[in-house]
Amino acid sequence: MNEATLGFLRQAYREYYFKGADRIDFPNEIGAREFGYIPFRGGMVRHLSFKNEGEALAEILKQSPSSVYCSNARYEYPTSPIEEKGWLGAELIFDIDATDIPTSCKKGHDLWYCEKCHTYGRLPRPQKCKCGGSAVEFHGTCEVCLDAAKEHAVRVVGFLVDDFGVDIKAIKLYFSGNRGYHLHIFDKRFDILDQQARGEIAEYIRGSSLPLTQSITSVLRHRPPSGAQGVGWTKRITGYVDERRQDYGGTLQKLVSEAISSQRALIDSSVTTDVHRVFRLGGTLHGDTGMAKTRVESIDKFDPQEEPVVLSSKPTKIRVDFYPRLRIKHSDFGPFTRPETVELPTYAAVSILTKGLGEVV
Ligand SMILES: [Zn+2]
Ligand SMILES: [Zn+2]
Repeated sequence: MNEATLGFLRQAYREYYFKGADRIDFPNEIGAREFGYIPFRGGMVRHLSFKNEGEALAEILKQSPSSVYCSNARYEYPTSPIEEKGWLGAELIFDIDATDIPTSCKKGHDLWYCEKCHTYGRLPRPQKCKCGGSAVEFHGTCEVCLDAAKEHAVRVVGFLVDDFGVDIKAIKLYFSGNRGYHLHIFDKRFDILDQQARGEIAEYIRGSSLPLTQSITSVLRHRPPSGAQGVGWTKRITGYVDERRQDYGGTLQKLVSEAISSQRALIDSSVTTDVHRVFRLGGTLHGDTGMAKTRVESIDKFDPQEEPVVLSSKPTKIRVDFYPRLRIKHSDFGPFTRPETVELPTYAAVSILTKGLGEVV
């Protein structure tokens, strides 16, 4: 990344933080949180602590970094090394990324490209390009993927409210600023749970290694349709099976696994189980897109192609080295398959520049 590009990105981010300070969602008990950030030059700065929102905002403005993070944990000594921080508890968190949800459109927009000669092709990615350059995966975004991610976020909310008795008001839902959703759960019952207990919740919501798959299939085999019975997954599965088994051509076992795959939420377990994570701070900009991690008040009305796009539409001249297709604000830019100089709205230019696929000219 050249100096002009670095300067341009920092300026674009700073302008947002200057005007959009009130969009940043600082956590409660801010003094007990660990903060971190990634500068545009790379590297990660962690173990920071701020007494109040003003102090944190001043640092964000000064650095105007690529990403800003804050711990979901609270600590006695947030600036100490992890083992000496004095862990006091952490809100339960969930991360959903469209990349992890199988959708048929991915064949069309996910590909690999060569960093050196910009050859590209369908996944899976080869070890190396024919020219010897390294092959990199590229994940595109489309409305189908974004809808799938949203659907899985709604499912997580359903599990939390129906199966775990969480008050809907205790759930803060965010669009991640890239391709997914984050959920922060402000319910004290979960705060003290260790890694293993969080892992069990994650596996339950993912519907993976469900011990009941075998037993529920055998129970259903001997029970006539009578409406959803039981609680939790049992209820979900019996409800689904009862509705469909009359006209279903396949085996009961297959119908049960279909009941699970159509209702599970593919959250990233490693995020939920990490009790020392620093997680993107609400209202801050994503380092790969320039879009804001945005609070979602009404999931039905929320448009991830519009509301998180907070940078200006001022035209900017950049050289794009390679970019298959950028879809933002329901418009397409590209494909750019060989280096060319183009004028793009700032929000679109930033999305290309942050990925290192172009330079300011
Ligand atoms: Zn190549
Ligand atoms: Zn897609």
